[in-house]
Amino acid sequence: MKKRRRRFFGFIILCAIMVIGYSIINKGESTTIPPKQAAGESNTGQSGGEVSGELGSNPVVPGDGEDAGKGSGAANGSKDEPNQPTAPGQAGQMEDGRTVIAQPESISVLVNKQNKLPENYSPADLVYPDVRFVFKEKVEKRMMRKEAAEALERLFKAAEDDGVLLAGVSAYRAHSTQKSLFERYAKRDGEEKALTYSAFPGTSEHETGLAIDVSGSDGKCAAADCFGDTKEALWLEKHAHEYGFIIRYLKGKESITGYQYEPWHLRYVGTDIAAELAAGGETLEEYFGAVPVVK
Ligand SMILES: [Zn+2]
Repeated sequence: MKKRRRRFFGFIILCAIMVIGYSIINKGESTTIPPKQAAGESNTGQSGGEVSGELGSNPVVPGDGEDAGKGSGAANGSKDEPNQPTAPGQAGQMEDGRTVIAQPESISVLVNKQNKLPENYSPADLVYPDVRFVFKEKVEKRMMRKEAAEALERLFKAAEDDGVLLAGVSAYRAHSTQKSLFERYAKRDGEEKALTYSAFPGTSEHETGLAIDVSGSDGKCAAADCFGDTKEALWLEKHAHEYGFIIRYLKGKESITGYQYEPWHLRYVGTDIAAELAAGGETLEEYFGAVPVVK
């Protein structure tokens, strides 16, 4: 019995040793291998990070490349959008191959050979600015929209304080006026030729009530190239933006605006846009990233 017992205990002890040994080995594995794995993981993790980092900037990896592309694209988009304003109502309907402006009443509206005012548009707040004109009559072409008219009064006053006497030549022109004018020219010379010297109805800035042609108080060089060399023109070039006006058709930008240099044609856009355009020597088309109007 003693022998059996000893054997039994011996067996139990052996079993216990085996169990403990196994658990130690296991424990050993679980304590030694995981650190290796952890190290391995952290290595692969690191190198993976580096790799994906490298690949992230490498367009070869479609996922990362696309994401990076989209990411930077979106970032650029959201970054560019505030800097690249959209012209009011630029996405209007097409008519006669031109876009019909959806927000013609906007102060910063872009009207040109490609973007025309709607047929039935007439500004609601036209007034007579209290400034000198080259004529005496209270007629349509003496009118401007209220905000522009008030800014024009400030501009004329400031010019006068600097010894520069300006005079209005032609401001607002109703759509119906432009239409009958253009149709008369088109009937006489054909539409193609008429387009070279007269604006297609709806595409003249004068229809917005935000534009005015000016000259010196003597009326000389009114709407003529010689105005560019006058002290009035020089004063306007320097100061018009301070009152929210831009020289709309700049020298050297003819292919963008679609018009020859017109130092006498002022357009009210408000002081913010005017200051920005004056500082950069840009046109309204460039400001809005619009398609250049190639003649
Ligand atoms: Zn004009």
